[in-house]
Amino acid sequence: MRHLPALALAASLIACGPPPAVDPEIARAIAGMKAFDNHAHPVRPTAAGEKPDDEFDALPVDSLEAQSDPVLQRGTSPVVVAAHRQLYGASTKADARKAHPDDYAAWALDQMGIETMVANRVAMGPGLPASRFLWVPFADALMYPLGTAQLVHNPDQRSFFPLEDKLLARYYRESGVTQRPATLGEYLTKVVSATLERHKKGGAVAEKYEMAYLRSLAVGNPSRAEAERAWAGGGDYTALQDYIFRYIALECGRLGMGVHLHVAHGGGGYFNTSWANPLLLEPLLNDPTLRKTTFVMIHGGWPWTREITPLLTKPNAYVDYSEQLSFDTPHNVAEALRGWLAYVPEKVLFATDAYPFSAELGWEEAGVVAANASREALGRALTAMLRDGEITRERAVELATMVMRENARKLYGLGDRGR
Ligand SMILES: [Zn+2]
Repeated sequence: MRHLPALALAASLIACGPPPAVDPEIARAIAGMKAFDNHAHPVRPTAAGEKPDDEFDALPVDSLEAQSDPVLQRGTSPVVVAAHRQLYGASTKADARKAHPDDYAAWALDQMGIETMVANRVAMGPGLPASRFLWVPFADALMYPLGTAQLVHNPDQRSFFPLEDKLLARYYRESGVTQRPATLGEYLTKVVSATLERHKKGGAVAEKYEMAYLRSLAVGNPSRAEAERAWAGGGDYTALQDYIFRYIALECGRLGMGVHLHVAHGGGGYFNTSWANPLLLEPLLNDPTLRKTTFVMIHGGWPWTREITPLLTKPNAYVDYSEQLSFDTPHNVAEALRGWLAYVPEKVLFATDAYPFSAELGWEEAGVVAANASREALGRALTAMLRDGEITRERAVELATMVMRENARKLYGLGDRGR
């Protein structure tokens, strides 16, 4: 008889199972929140016969040598198949395009529960309305004014660097400069500042760097004389790049634009992960002259998610957790999120990195996969904090609102946009 209570308890546990990983009330609250997506690559819908959009990335990864794709980025992955079904049901992508001839991209955002998406693109254009998409163009090309042939050391760089040359030529053209200026000073004013100001005028909220694909995030602090020597052809090219990077960072501060940096492992079988270590950014984040510039570490630093945490006390440092769910599970990403949320939660931003990986995994499917998994990871982190008595239920919902949109809204000064 005395075993009965224990048996009853065991039976009730079997009946109920373990508590859900995400508290249902928190899950409901997060599901109902319209998100601000800090980083993605939406593809511009083009009409039949029009050249397909290729401006969704300065360095597209679809032309690289084959690598061993992570499970979550394979078109056959169950989450990708489920995302396709969530978007299109029993019909096809082509049917959805036909059903939404004028508002396909905005319709796709609605399916992801995203109000505003930051479009990290070379240029914007028809089909991506400014009411739903904010622009972040690319600044890397400006760092390589002396050409890039000497910087190519592997097949991925052989694909990437000529694209930077092409983009720099475009920036020259758009700036009305026909050849390399005689002096570094002229280059900085007539090409670099002119480009940044044009981007700002075109609606850009930040400049993006894919630097970790091309070189280390370790940016030195060379003198103007060192940079001038390199410009004249007799010095260290890296010092010139570093000088230009810092010039752009200062200009972004002046113009009220953020600096977005790819800080995480990346695509391609030659990606040098150690170049993307967030701790390499400390000299920039600790430079008093750059405190007016906001740095956003895109992709949450994986595998260095813990290294990101202490950097969040820098007043001008932010992190988003885009792409992370294509590297890792919601369970593990929740652990990283929990560390950040317990430390400086005002600096953490929701994002997807919706990207056209392949025919099966377009930006729409990738957006749905990432939006679902990112909501789940956030829910798991907040639930764990609630169960451990670290936060109240009210605070959990408040933190969710901050991560899903309010932090970004403050960062970019968006006021009531999307409310
Ligand atoms: Zn991206």
